[in-house]
This record gives sequence, C-alpha cells and structure tokens, in this order.
Amino acid sequence: MHDDDQTHAHDHAHGHDHGHDQGHDQGDGSPLPEIALRVKALESILVEKGYIDPAAIDVIVETYETKVGPRNGARVVAKAWSDPAYLARLRADATAAIAELGFTGRQGEHMRIVENTPTRHNLVVCTLCSCYPWSVLGLPPVWYKAAPYRAKAVIDPRGVLADFGVTLPRETEIRVWDSTAELRYLVLPLRPQGTEGWSEDRLADLVTRDSMIGTGLASAPGAAR
Ligand code: FE
Repeated sequence: MHDDDQTHAHDHAHGHDHGHDQGHDQGDGSPLPEIALRVKALESILVEKGYIDPAAIDVIVETYETKVGPRNGARVVAKAWSDPAYLARLRADATAAIAELGFTGRQGEHMRIVENTPTRHNLVVCTLCSCYPWSVLGLPPVWYKAAPYRAKAVIDPRGVLADFGVTLPRETEIRVWDSTAELRYLVLPLRPQGTEGWSEDRLADLVTRDSMIGTGLASAPGAAR
C-alpha cells in the first residue's frame, strides 16, 4: 500500500491505519491519535445515552481478537501441515496461497511464512508500532502493541518466550522478524507429535494465535483449548 520507501523498510508513519491502536504513542508519550479520541468520545456518548452496551462491545472485540481472526491463520497452518503442495505454494507466495482460502485484504497484502523447525523458532514483532497480519490473525493482542514486548522481543527473545511460558532447548535458534507495513509474517508452528492422520479441522484446533506469532507453540493433542 505504500512502496515509496525502498531503503528503510520500517516506514510506518502513514503506511497503514493505526486507528485501532490504543497503545500507539511512538514511545514519546504523545497522546492517542485524533481518530482514536473521536471514537472514544463517540462511544462515551452512545453509552451514556443507552444506545450501546460497553460489555457487548467488549465481547465483539474479544471475539475478533481471539476467535474469528486467528481461526483463519489456524486453517492456513493446518492445511500446510497436511498438504505438501499447499506448503510449497505457501513458501513460494504466501499472500497468494493464503488468498486461496479466501483470506485477503487489509494488512495481509504481503505475507510471508516463517517455519519453525526442531532447531529454529521464529518470533514476530513490530518494533515501531503494531504491524500485524489481520487477514489471518485478526486484531493484534494488546501486548503485541505494547512497548515492553516490542523492545524485549529484539533484545531478549528467550526472555519473552519465558514470560509466555515457553521454554525451548538452549540450542534452538530463535529468529526475530520485524514486521512492517510492507511485509507481515505468519509463523508456521511445528506440528505436534501424535497427530498423524488427523483431519485439517482437528489440526486447526491445536493452532493457537500465539503459536502463529511465535510467543507460543501449537497445543499438544488433548490439551487443545
Ligand atoms: Fe507497525
């Protein structure tokens, strides 16, 4: 959407819409973007007048954060685990392969998959703001947009994983990918053992949102949420 900056990949300032991004303050304490303030003001008035129920709004946001969005990514991962031809297409052109499943649009235009292996784990961050593959993961979680995650993911990725309860063998390499307005990453987690012969639907239930960001692993069979 914004390809005039070839030299500095991290050109975020106006590459995409940050209206949703409450935590986006460029690290200098500047206030919420005007659009966010206007939305807040409007929401307050509607709540005050009894037109909307803040609890209902929370449910909708929660749904998009944790259910609708990440289920798209989970289907991509489950298909990649199940179908070698699909995996090959995903490696060659993730944007197109993801679009095959109907997942396109905002903030998912230039996708790339990064594959976990027994010796390498991938972690995705956006150090400058909150670039995130909406088409497959929905809205970014609050912590993804927060300064501590954005800073620590680069400096101490193993520490971040520990914060999320993930411990990898010391010899496992951890690669950190910095998302930009131009390029969004989807982690392809390792397929859990003991899932041979499982259908894509069953496999998809093991694929958590965090496993596709890299702050988690796919669930073990029997431990699916
Ligand atoms: Fe960003």
